[in-house]
Amino acid sequence: MSTAVRLSILLLAGMLLLSACERTQPVHNGQFMAFGTLTDISIAGVTPERAESAIEALEEDFAIMHKAWHAWAPGPLTRTNNLLAEGVRFAAPPSVLTLMEKSRQLAQQSDNLFNPAIGRLVKLWGFQQDEIKNRRPPDDAAIAKLLHADPTMEDISIDGIHARCGNPAVQLDFGAIGKGYGIDLAIEHLREMGIENAIVNSGGDLRAIGSRNGNPWRIAIRSPSGSGVLGFLHISSDESIFTSGDYERNYLWKGKHYHHIIDPRTGYPAEGTRSVTVIHDNATVADAAATALFVAGPKDWHKIARQMGIRYVLLIDSNNVAQMNPAMEKRFALMNKNQVVEVSEPLIAPQTEKK
Ligand code: AMP
Ligand code: MG
Repeated sequence: MSTAVRLSILLLAGMLLLSACERTQPVHNGQFMAFGTLTDISIAGVTPERAESAIEALEEDFAIMHKAWHAWAPGPLTRTNNLLAEGVRFAAPPSVLTLMEKSRQLAQQSDNLFNPAIGRLVKLWGFQQDEIKNRRPPDDAAIAKLLHADPTMEDISIDGIHARCGNPAVQLDFGAIGKGYGIDLAIEHLREMGIENAIVNSGGDLRAIGSRNGNPWRIAIRSPSGSGVLGFLHISSDESIFTSGDYERNYLWKGKHYHHIIDPRTGYPAEGTRSVTVIHDNATVADAAATALFVAGPKDWHKIARQMGIRYVLLIDSNNVAQMNPAMEKRFALMNKNQVVEVSEPLIAPQTEKK
C-alpha cells in the first residue's frame, strides 16, 4: 500500500471518529423556575462540571431579574411605578432604567402596539395574578377611562439616571419584554464564562448560540392550541425565537375566552390572532416584537415587522391560516402538511428575501 493511500485511510478513519465523537458528545441540561415558567439551559462543548456551575450562576441571575422586574410584588419596579405616578423627578433603579430605555424605543417602532405603560389596563383585566381564575371581565366604562388617559412610554422623560412621568395613568409592566432581556443577559453571562454553544429557553422562548456539537440546534414551535408541535426550525450561530399566544394566560366568562395580550388601541384583548412567532438576533427585540405583531394582527403585522426590523414572522390567525413572510416559509418545517399557508410580500428588499 502506498504511503498516500495509507495516509488517506488514516485521515478518513480520523474523520469518522471525529464525527462519531460529535454525535455522541453530550449536551448538558439544567432546569429551574424563572419568570413564573420552567427555564431550561442546554450547554454543549464543555465539561459537565463547567456546565453545571454555569447553570447555577444563571439560576441566581434569573432570581434577581425576576425580583427586579416584577410589576406587582414589592421591589424596584413597584417603587418606580409609585414614583412615576407621583410625577416627581427620581433616580431610577439601574435594573429598571435600561428596560425603560429599550422599551421606549421598541414601543415607538411598534406604533405603541407594544406598550409596557399599560400596566393599569393589564391589572384591570386581572392578568397580574400568578394564577389566572375565571372572572367577570372589567366594565366598559373602566376600560374607556384608562384608554382616555392614554398612557405611553413617551410620557416618561429620562435624563441620565433620572426619570419623571407626566401622566399618572402610566404603570410599567415588563411582562412582554422582561423575559427577552433576561435571556439576552443570560447569554452574555454564559459567554463571559467561556461558553459559546448553548440554548437559554424560558417556557419555549429562547436564544441559541453556537451549535449542538457542530450541528444546528433544532427547535420545536408549539402549536397555537398550546399543546403539540406546529413545526420545526433549525438555528445556528446566534438567534432568538419568541412566541406570543392566546393560550398562555386566559380565562373564561360566560362562554367567551379572554386572553392576556391587550390591544392598547381598544383596551380589550387583541383579536384576529392565535399566535405569533418571530426570529431575531436579539431576544429583547424578539420578545417585544412577538407581542406587538400579535396585537397588530393579520392586517398590520407586515408593516409593524418592517418598522421593528424583523425578518422572520409566522402568524397563526383566528381562521388557523399560517401567515408567513417568504424567508420564514423557507425555514419553517410544518408538521401538518395540510396546514393552510399564506405567504406575504417579502419583509425586506426582494433581492435579499426571495419569494
Ligand atoms: P408576551 O407573552 O410576551 O406577549 O407578553 C404578554 C404580557 O405583557 C401580558 O401578560 C401583560 O403583562 C403584558 N402586556 C399585555 N398586552 C401588552 C401590550 N400590548 N404591550 C406590552 N405589554 C403587554
Ligand atoms: Mg413578548
